[in-house]
Amino acid sequence: MTDLTPSELGNLTDKLTQRRGELVAMIRAGAADAGHDNLRRMSGEVGDPGDESSALQQTDLNLAEMEGEVRELRAVDRALERVRDGSYGYCAECGCNIPTARLAAYPTAERCTQCQTRHERVYGGRDVTPSI
Ligand SMILES: [Zn+2]
Repeated sequence: MTDLTPSELGNLTDKLTQRRGELVAMIRAGAADAGHDNLRRMSGEVGDPGDESSALQQTDLNLAEMEGEVRELRAVDRALERVRDGSYGYCAECGCNIPTARLAAYPTAERCTQCQTRHERVYGGRDVTPSI
């Protein structure tokens, strides 16, 4: 067992489930927007080149935003998967208990602070996850 009490684990699971719903809604809305922009561009509704490039820029921005949301959604799904298989709250690298305070701040945390720091030093960036 981890240091988490059943009610703490329940709270974190609720948080993750709620966040998942928010992310899915944001991604759906973003996808609808992007689709709409593409449609407008294809139908020639966007007239002069200035408008066109700002429309493109906006789409890029939306896509970058969506990419972040999709990445977070994957992290949330992995966390919920770990709740199901009972490995939630354990560091993926060293197997120690991830401190409850860290999980409360980052419910999707997969590593203890030490392993995360080392991981970031190797791979860079806070959101980077290994491809395998
Ligand atoms: Zn660790």
